[in-house]
Amino acid sequence: MFLETEIENTLQTGSIEVICGSMFSGKTEELIRRLNKAKFAKLKAAVFKPKTDNRYDDQQVVSHDANTVKSKAVDSALEILDFVTKIDVVAIDEVQFFSEEIVDVCKTLANKNKRVILAGLDMDFLGNPFGSMPQLLAIAEHVTKVHAVCSDCGKMASHSFRFSNNKNLIELGQKEEYKPLCRGCFKTNLK
Ligand SMILES: [Zn+2]
Repeated sequence: MFLETEIENTLQTGSIEVICGSMFSGKTEELIRRLNKAKFAKLKAAVFKPKTDNRYDDQQVVSHDANTVKSKAVDSALEILDFVTKIDVVAIDEVQFFSEEIVDVCKTLANKNKRVILAGLDMDFLGNPFGSMPQLLAIAEHVTKVHAVCSDCGKMASHSFRFSNNKNLIELGQKEEYKPLCRGCFKTNLK
């Protein structure tokens, strides 16, 4: 699929990988898949997520197929630097919710020879770039876009459409309020 060998070859020098896409696109599943491989390679991994995401359990990254990995919820991106001294692989889920300091934190981690794996939404519910995702995509060595299936027409979906009128971006956690749509159906639904 993607260049896994290439990704693994960059281990010694540190690197940044981004897994991005809409809601229901399997970002967290892909993050967990990479973490399991790292574990198999006897690498020490730690998983972080912002405290704003409390959908299920504050102590876990929870993916849709209930394949779970323990994570630490942190108040700010800078806090991550306190926990990674003996860690080889630093994974961050829901990375779009961190404030802009996340960009420097990821650079610092990669420059300390850590493999940084980020998962997050590339666009908000209006179809605009989400938070610091554009910067993170720019500084990453590897970018993987994953896709959902359009719930209206069955084509490849890249947009997260919100049913309610609430304009609070942070609420992009409540899954039941959203459906994945392709560009065409997103345009139609917004009208
Ligand atoms: Zn569609």
